[in-house]
Amino acid sequence: MLDLAHHRDHSSYKGQMNWDPVSGANAAVWLAIVLGLQIAIVLLYRWANGVLPGLRPFLAGSVCSLASSMALVIVRDGASAWQSAISTACGVLLIVAPWLLYRAFHAMQRGHVPALALRTPLMLVLLVYLACARSGDLAARELVSEGWRVGIFGWTAWQAQYFRRVSQRHPALPAVAMLASLFPALGASAHIARVVLDVFERSPGWLTLLTSSGTGAVLHAVVGTLLTFVFMAAATCAIRDRYLEEARTFADQAERDPLTNLLNRRGLEQRLQRLGDTHHRTIGVLVLDVDYFKSINDRFGHLVGDQVLQTIALRLLATVRPGDLVCRFGGEEFVVVVPCRDPEDVHVMATRLRHAIGGEAFQAADQFASITISIGLAFGALDDSDALLRDADERVLQAKHVGRNTIVLPGDGRAGARVHTGDSQPLRDAFEDESTGDLFGVNEAPV
Ligand code: GH3
Ligand code: MG
Ligand code: MG
Repeated sequence: MLDLAHHRDHSSYKGQMNWDPVSGANAAVWLAIVLGLQIAIVLLYRWANGVLPGLRPFLAGSVCSLASSMALVIVRDGASAWQSAISTACGVLLIVAPWLLYRAFHAMQRGHVPALALRTPLMLVLLVYLACARSGDLAARELVSEGWRVGIFGWTAWQAQYFRRVSQRHPALPAVAMLASLFPALGASAHIARVVLDVFERSPGWLTLLTSSGTGAVLHAVVGTLLTFVFMAAATCAIRDRYLEEARTFADQAERDPLTNLLNRRGLEQRLQRLGDTHHRTIGVLVLDVDYFKSINDRFGHLVGDQVLQTIALRLLATVRPGDLVCRFGGEEFVVVVPCRDPEDVHVMATRLRHAIGGEAFQAADQFASITISIGLAFGALDDSDALLRDADERVLQAKHVGRNTIVLPGDGRAGARVHTGDSQPLRDAFEDESTGDLFGVNEAPV
């Protein structure tokens, strides 16, 4: 992928050279245009805050590749010492370029694929390349350089399949990435084929043209650039989607308790705010505190205590209705918010929750433990949720004082809270007492 130009210094070969429509200065101009376009698009992309990582090595690799190809086109036919020095230096850059492009490609996969340790192989290839250049064996030099390209781009083409991990929602991305990598790998393979066929003077004209430093290099640069930009666009869409997905996951995690996966305090606050956007204007708030939970920890250990908390969470979730909010408020204290218009519903829910926890023993290791909860209730306008929480919390304390395993309902302010330890019975009166008959704004609630 991303290999935008090719150095094709084959002045030493005697292969039949066809008429080359784009050669010499023309080719250099074309390559300069492609290079300028490359830089402009990448800079524009950065300016527009594109999300693609690895742009720096990508740009460095492209510049190395295209600038060296241009220099080679210009000095190609010279035989002087400085011309051969430039040609060797450009050859070195053309070996470094695929390595840079591999790094860019890998960065774009955002760590979903382990990185290939390429520094040592790169050094070895450079050493062999320089040795070939020094001995004047240009065919061997080109074979080393092109073999390296086939290896790197073949490997990136193979690794393109892992782009599916970047985003499941963009199934075309791995194919586009593979095509963009396969193209330079095939180009380099064509060069190897031409070098080998040149030895036997059997290189066909079309192959010579396709791998020439004129038409061949320009064609390669133009098609390579187009494929690269299609790939960049696809990768940008996929990575942006992935970022959004991750942001949603992080936001969700920030609102949840890691032990029970119930809402945490922040999550409850957020959901209460969102409830305001729906038709609910009155809510029931239940604060539940596990009785003597410390003794569970003391008897069975904290890990078992954690498992019990998780089981409690599951039982709460299984008991509430869709739309009710269940929150782990802290420690062994839970809050259930029931959007409803009738306070009686809240009491029914409290009774069901008390049975859900206390009605069935919890298994801890190979023993069974009975657990009960104390519940404080409040009912009122959604806008007063803070005050309702405070009231319900106070009622849990009252439940503890009167002996636990108890539901405490809103009192009338004179006789204190009403305590209910039995099964459900009509308790609308209890709420009416507290709200002087207005049922906490129920009458105002839209039907
Ligand atoms: P009460 O009936 O008065 O509520 O008694 P209690 O033992 O339930 O209440 P207390 O406040 O004395 O103790 C609460 C215990 O809950 C103490 C603490 O170690 C335990 N606890 C709090 N959070 C966790 C947790 O995440 N995991 C476990 N295993 N225990 C927890
Ligand atoms: Mg407790
Ligand atoms: Mg507590």
